[in-house]
Amino acid sequence: MLNVSKTDYQLARQQILEGIISNEFGIENRDNLGPMIPIRLFQVLRMVALGSNMEDILGQGAPSMVYHSGQSLGTALGQIVAPTADKNLDTYVGKIEHLCRHLSIGLVVPDKVDLKAGILELRVDECVSCAGIHHVSSPICHFEAGMVGGIVKAFFNRNVKATETKCNALGDKTCLIRVDLL
Ligand SMILES: [Zn+2]
Repeated sequence: MLNVSKTDYQLARQQILEGIISNEFGIENRDNLGPMIPIRLFQVLRMVALGSNMEDILGQGAPSMVYHSGQSLGTALGQIVAPTADKNLDTYVGKIEHLCRHLSIGLVVPDKVDLKAGILELRVDECVSCAGIHHVSSPICHFEAGMVGGIVKAFFNRNVKATETKCNALGDKTCLIRVDLL
């Protein structure tokens, strides 16, 4: 297939997503170092590159951009997983939970699901992004909130608003994401 219209970042994105979905844990060109990285390196990318550096450029708009970025990943993953879930929410959440555990993003646990009210609350225990971070003044996992929102959006095919209402970095021991179906 010719990829002439794709940018290099789009090509990389496609290959990374394919690698995630293939469940293949090994990776090329890491014969000595292997597929794992220290969590602090991930946090540098997440909280510095996709956090404070973004804030340097965008100021108060940074959290929205980070949220958007998370939402686009969540939607992409959700769109790959959804067709395998038989339109069943429990099956879907189970597969997402497995994927998030496999990727060490966190332990996803449904806390409250009220579809009549259009509200889903999902916990992310041991969240990769804010583990070991303290003393922030408000929830800091905008990427993860967006990602969970994107995952829900992909299942219901509806717009959503996701909000992190508890954050481990605030001392809450978990990150709780509330998703409102719009
Ligand atoms: Zn958090």
